[in-house]
Amino acid sequence: MSFQLQDKKAVVTGGSSGIGLATVELLVAEGACVAWCGRDEQRLNESKQQILARYPNAKVFTAVCNVLDKADVQKFADLVQKQFGGVDILINNAGQGRVSDFENTADEDWIKEVELKYFSVLHPIRAFLPALKQSNSGSITNVNSLLALQPEPHMIATSSARAALLNLTHSLAHEFSQYNIRVNSILLGMVESAQWKRRFENRSDLHQTWEEWIGNIAKKRGIPMARLGKPEEPARALVFLASPLASYTTGSAIDVSGGFNKHL
Ligand code: NDP
Repeated sequence: MSFQLQDKKAVVTGGSSGIGLATVELLVAEGACVAWCGRDEQRLNESKQQILARYPNAKVFTAVCNVLDKADVQKFADLVQKQFGGVDILINNAGQGRVSDFENTADEDWIKEVELKYFSVLHPIRAFLPALKQSNSGSITNVNSLLALQPEPHMIATSSARAALLNLTHSLAHEFSQYNIRVNSILLGMVESAQWKRRFENRSDLHQTWEEWIGNIAKKRGIPMARLGKPEEPARALVFLASPLASYTTGSAIDVSGGFNKHL
């Protein structure tokens, strides 16, 4: 069974690395036309070259865009409309987490985190909504974290902002049902990506290899599957929710955490 994505038009924010790039690749492999953005031009170009090297006939489009800059996002949406003539799928993936507890999170950091978690989703939805309304299979899928249900004290601001995003996803699912646009999310545990590579580079024990380091994290955190996820694992959940295969699913969240979810 295929994801039924041939010639669908998809947008992935933060598609130049990690989970976003794995999602772009799966969408392209399934025959979708895919546009993605990121802030760093070089990383974005490299991701495009990587996709085109594997799928030379892929219909792809990239643009430098900071999802926190409303005008930038509108420009991106206008360019996508020009390139593809519409949009069926929006995947809001761009972002990162903040590691800090209450005592070392300054007020400005709270504001930045709340801005990132809300507006990395609100700006793209506002900009792409007119196109999504025209689609006969419109969907919005937000990358969220298990922190939304299971807060971690060392990520206090991210956890509470993630809970807000889960709540917002439900409201949008209800409001957009009238347009036949489905809105869902995935709840991530820990997934190997550039964020984790950056943390690895700053590890205290420089003798530890990547495999040892992530293996220790999985063990210490008690992840039942004893490993971190690979980017293609959340990508498959995202593409399923975004696709017509999930046609009767809205306001829902798929857990992708290797069993780390203690709420089941
Ligand atoms: P990566 O750092 O590998 O990828 C993040 C992507 O988002 C990059 O393409 C980055 O490109 C882009 N990006 C970041 N900020 C912006 C912005 N303001 N505007 C446009 N693009 C942006 O991380 P992951 O793949 O791990 O993260 C993907 C999503 O998953 C994030 O929202 C993250 O918070 C979430 N997540 C990840 C977890 C994990 O364990 N990996 C756990 C829980 C949630 P550039 O920097 O060039 O802009």
